Amino acid sequence: MSRFLSKRLSDLVPYVPGEQPTDMAYIKLNTNESPYPPSPMVLERLVSAALDKLNLYPDPTGKALRQKIAAQYGLEPENVFLSNGSDEALAFAFMAFCDEKTPAAFADVTYGFYPVYCDLFGIPRAVIPLRSDFTLCADDYVGIGKTIIIANPNAPTGLAVSLDAIEKILAANPDNVVIVDEAYVDFGGDTAVGLIQKYDNLLVVQTCSKSRSLAGARLGFAFGCKALIDDIDAVRYSFNSYNVSRPALLAGEAAFDDAAYYDAMCRRVIATREKTAEGLKALGFQMTASVANFLFARHPEASGGDLYRQLKARGILVRHFDKNRISDYLRITIGTPEQMKALLSALAVILGRET
Ligand code: PMP
Repeated sequence: MSRFLSKRLSDLVPYVPGEQPTDMAYIKLNTNESPYPPSPMVLERLVSAALDKLNLYPDPTGKALRQKIAAQYGLEPENVFLSNGSDEALAFAFMAFCDEKTPAAFADVTYGFYPVYCDLFGIPRAVIPLRSDFTLCADDYVGIGKTIIIANPNAPTGLAVSLDAIEKILAANPDNVVIVDEAYVDFGGDTAVGLIQKYDNLLVVQTCSKSRSLAGARLGFAFGCKALIDDIDAVRYSFNSYNVSRPALLAGEAAFDDAAYYDAMCRRVIATREKTAEGLKALGFQMTASVANFLFARHPEASGGDLYRQLKARGILVRHFDKNRISDYLRITIGTPEQMKALLSALAVILGRET
């Protein structure tokens, strides 16, 4: 830390993204990316159209992409917001809808960026414990007078909250914004997008990083009533009006033109998830009922940290959070069937269960 850093930030503990070591070729199951490439349409359009215009700024309104996304979800472009990854949409929403008098409220076990945004922006927080099985109790969020953030499906557990529970929370907090972070919704969750016409306090955040194989392009989006979208747009224009790059806009447009490809990739990931879960169970692992593109698993005879280290030594990266309640667990991204086979074989060796 330099002697110049603002006092306000001197205690900031930054978010730690999944590691990307380069000492060997790893099977990377630690950041919930898609194991499949973007649609061929994305690659074609990026090569032909994006590169010769990189001397020009992108459209700050992202109009063409917002129109495509709106059409796909049965909404108007004014209901759609674009961001540099969904992390940025979340950051803008924290800035716009939380302050000293309106703390943020979220679960104790959830996406690790939420507390970091609170610290960065000086927002107080209420941390609401999940039940012992990591499920969320909607009653804990009734009339709490705070900006509520719910990852649905949740990370790192993969557990989904029902739309009925989301609606109960929305209806019980009419004077507060409820942000539903749906980064993983396309792998088996139910989206709350259909509720935005009914609830002016609902902001739904999604991403192209997971189900649309565009983590490297950094493209997120959010849905809400026009007034909510205008609010976060005002924050965006006050921060970085060209937040989505020209290549990202083009990649996004092409991706939304090839929904059939991504549906097929999601079905593959879901099928691989179910097969991997069976394999892990056969090795004695216990798991949450994940509907995301990852599994959250622990083994009664081995610590999470130990399994993580032993897998890494064998060239397989998974995510281990050395945090309260979840230090026994591994979060394992669903890769290709071949990658998951390699994972299961490595775990069988580590656990001494080779047949
Ligand atoms: N929300 C959740 C719950 C996540 O796990 C992630 C991925 N780390 C994000 C949002 C952000 O993803 P991105 O910025 O790539 O859209």
